[in-house]
Amino acid sequence: VLGGIGLLFFIVALAISHFLSKRTMIPIANAFARQREFVADASHELRTPLSVLLSSIDTLEMEETIEEDPFSRNVLGNMKDEVKRMANLIGDLLTLARSDSGTLEVRRDSFEFRTHADTIVKSLEPIAAAKNISLQFHAFSDIHLYADLEKLKQLLYILLDNAIKYTPNNGLVQLSLSTEGTEQNKMFIMQVRDTGVGIPPEDCDKVFDRFYRVDKSRARQMGGHGLGLSIAKWIVDAHQGTIHVTSKLNEGSTFIVRIPVK
Ligand code: ADP
Repeated sequence: VLGGIGLLFFIVALAISHFLSKRTMIPIANAFARQREFVADASHELRTPLSVLLSSIDTLEMEETIEEDPFSRNVLGNMKDEVKRMANLIGDLLTLARSDSGTLEVRRDSFEFRTHADTIVKSLEPIAAAKNISLQFHAFSDIHLYADLEKLKQLLYILLDNAIKYTPNNGLVQLSLSTEGTEQNKMFIMQVRDTGVGIPPEDCDKVFDRFYRVDKSRARQMGGHGLGLSIAKWIVDAHQGTIHVTSKLNEGSTFIVRIPVK
């Protein structure tokens, strides 16, 4: 196990030194641009060693001696959780760095969203079921949009994942999709309602700020790092839409997204 862990850290050290040596060769005039590029480069360069780490841990877990040793299995399980956490954080930082530098683009296409939403709901059912949370989905009709499908999927995933994360056992999470308005002015409405811990009124606007977490100790326990909703807000803004939350402490929250259909 120690040999394996040593190898993993060697790979990370190698990636960081490779990244630093690359940095010194890039002449950039503007300090802000350099800072943004630093984050984007760092995020990018750190992703590869993390996926190597994950697959190395997977390989170690399959070793016969480790399979039979509860202590080693536990250590490797913890390592895997932390590496996954770091990979998520780096992914989010990369998205935000790209949005800052203007290199994150909205790629619009025509598609029907209900089936995609259904797939996302199904992918989250196991984590809802683990908390005995009922996950309900209702769409009033097919939803034809001209938008960035991948980003809308990411937006929905962030909202549903949070709703499940911040709802105690035996709760309820409901997703509803609809449209409203005239043909020229049609808006797509995505509503995610939960029966979770709720958000104090003074925090309802701040949750969309980067790194903002209402209850830092609880959010940390849940594995959050306060970037999901700022990414959600960027996606909505990039589609000329709005997002807001209404909430009652200890009763639940409802996130409402409005995006022009075209
Ligand atoms: P995190 O990774 O911490 O979940 P987010 O940006 O997604 O980051 O959310 C910011 C904060 O907003 C969370 O830490 C949490 O305090 C609060 N929050 C988000 N969604 C909900 C929800 N459905 N119910 C209660 N609180 C929420």
